[in-house]
Amino acid sequence: MLQWQTGTVVAAWPETPRTKSFRLSIPRFDAFRPGQRVDIRLTAPDGYQTQRSYSIASAPGTGEFINLTVELIEDGEVSPYFHDVVQAGDKIEFRGPIGGPFTWTKAQGGPLLLVAGGSGVVPLMSMLRHRASGDIAARPRAALLYSSRDISDVIYRDELVQMAEEDDGFDLRLTLTRQQPAGWDGYARRVDVSMLQDVIANLTEPLHSYVCGPTDFVESVSALLLEHGLPMQSIRTERFGPSGT
Ligand SMILES: Cc1cc2nc3c(=O)[nH]c(=O)nc-3n(C[C@H](O)[C@H](O)[C@H](O)COP(=O)(O)OP(=O)(O)OC[C@H]3O[C@@H](n4cnc5c(N)ncnc54)[C@H](O)[C@@H]3O)c2cc1C
Repeated sequence: MLQWQTGTVVAAWPETPRTKSFRLSIPRFDAFRPGQRVDIRLTAPDGYQTQRSYSIASAPGTGEFINLTVELIEDGEVSPYFHDVVQAGDKIEFRGPIGGPFTWTKAQGGPLLLVAGGSGVVPLMSMLRHRASGDIAARPRAALLYSSRDISDVIYRDELVQMAEEDDGFDLRLTLTRQQPAGWDGYARRVDVSMLQDVIANLTEPLHSYVCGPTDFVESVSALLLEHGLPMQSIRTERFGPSGT
């Protein structure tokens, strides 16, 4: 049984207008695998407790530090607290790392197909940051197909674009479902089978696929991947909760 521990928030910064990242210092944290999460527990002065899961956004190998990225759910209980109240210096109760099948390390090889909806990109970013560490020639090929409402909602945009520019083995495809900036040359619709076919054709048949985001997004994308003919056991999914759409 994992013990609850206390970590310290050492930094907090906005990623997009609706997401914020937090760097936690957690001295007694076991090594983790990209894709894993932590549970966060909040306790009110009257003793009421509530907990939520948050994926680790950083790659292993940063010592006692991990990053989390939290999307604001306006009528939510925990995410508004992170956005409005939590700041550097605060103590946070957590347990982890947690999670088995939805993990990937370079030793598992590739090609690697990652499909994200909204904040579902967080655990996939941990995988990509892990993949990007070390020798470029030894990195398995990877593609990220990432669906957001509009360009301002694309979390880690600068880092992802830079990763794609510096590494021919990483293919970044963005789709903006609600609004596109002038001159947009990415996709402009919900993820569909022809979009997945494009990405897979460029990647060559993926060995591992990871799909993460709102529940209905994950269900529809995994059904499309099966329809495309990928074996069920090669597809791993993580559902973050109801659709934000
Ligand atoms: C394994 C796992 C990993 C997760 N990792 C992350 C992460 O890295 N970053 C992150 O931001 N969230 C992540 N989540 C979602 C997170 O745990 C919370 O569910 C989310 O922050 C909402 O909590 P809340 O207390 O603010 O809202 P709640 O009080 O739980 O819910 C308020 C309202 O919002 C709806 N709602 C709940 N969750 C969502 C959602 N994800 N999208 C849209 N509507 C929702 C509820 O149905 C309800 O109507 C993860 C969830 C799981 C299961």
